[in-house]
Amino acid sequence: TRALVTGGTGFLGAAVVDILLARGYHVVTTVRTLEKAQDMRTHFSSDKLDFVIVEDIAKLDAFDKAVVNDPPFDAVIHTASPFHYTINNIKKDMIDPAVNGTVGILNSVKKYAPTVKRVVITSSFAAMVDVNKAVGWKWSERDWNPVTWETAEDPTNSAGQAGYRTSKALAEKAAWEFMEKEKPGFTLTTLNPSLIFGPVQPWLRSLDVINTSNERFRDFISGAAREKCPPTGSLFWVDVRDVALAHALAVEKPQSAGKRYFLTAGNFCNRDVVETIAESFPELKDRLPSGDKALEEGSYPPGGPKYGYNNSASRNDLGLEYRSLKESVADTVKSLQAVGIAA
Ligand code: NDP
Repeated sequence: TRALVTGGTGFLGAAVVDILLARGYHVVTTVRTLEKAQDMRTHFSSDKLDFVIVEDIAKLDAFDKAVVNDPPFDAVIHTASPFHYTINNIKKDMIDPAVNGTVGILNSVKKYAPTVKRVVITSSFAAMVDVNKAVGWKWSERDWNPVTWETAEDPTNSAGQAGYRTSKALAEKAAWEFMEKEKPGFTLTTLNPSLIFGPVQPWLRSLDVINTSNERFRDFISGAAREKCPPTGSLFWVDVRDVALAHALAVEKPQSAGKRYFLTAGNFCNRDVVETIAESFPELKDRLPSGDKALEEGSYPPGGPKYGYNNSASRNDLGLEYRSLKESVADTVKSLQAVGIAA
């Protein structure tokens, strides 16, 4: 199978490239610059991996050339999208690259890559979150973030975490609208992972450039959160290798066509993460917050987690099995230590 992967330099994109190569795919990944391709090459020596430069995914025709390959592609996996909470301009920083990147790649495939039969897009739990859902709600892929183009610029939807969520919700909605309207010759699967932990890209030069969802690990093992554990800020987690495998399975399993899948291994709180690090890495204990007071804000509310989940579609259709928090935390910390800073 020949696949185009967008955003292979990213935390998730790198794991997707990794698993596709392991499963025998030929992979071409988009990169913003030649330097990034060279960084990636330090890790991947496979002659089944190639690169194509796509500088700005916010341009609607950005992928017109990248989708054309010889021999041609069978599948396209679109992971590239900005994920950060430091937003100056919601449209320019988040919505344009998220939405135009998504609609743009679907358009380019339809126009220029007729051999592609499967497209998989990385959406997010962010595209499912509805802050009005009451305590006790059981989250699944049936849930949709209610944000619309009209409400997107409202400050409550355009700043920080909400701004990111808006970009992902509008992008996924636009993808399904495209499928409905354009009826292209390929099928679409969207994957909606909760917060992703797991090993970082081995070629990272410093933990200053670590991806958003692993930042808490850096802060824990560097001692930055020793006095006070930050609030968890998220309900569910999942390991990057399981999310990457889900992308490959979505390409491979016909029953995933036309569906969206919530990907999560379950609830977590920052206290769980800290205590798991302490257990697996006793030498890091001094750097971690400890005791009820320091850990209070990162603990579950009294009585435990307040929201449930249903990940059975991902397990039944895709055959996914989820790693444990213990395994994921240990491998994340080891990968950060390998980058060097936490030693
Ligand atoms: P990263 O920041 O590590 O990766 C993002 C990727 O997108 C990088 O390859 C980046 O390129 C590329 N990218 C971002 N903005 C642009 C742009 N304007 N033009 C071109 N390329 C761009 O984030 P993640 O790996 O965490 O995220 C990957 C995907 O997974 C995203 O779609 C995200 O929404 C989704 N996701 C992530 C979750 C998580 O917890 N990490 C949870 C749920 C979904 P470069 O390397 O050059 O910066």
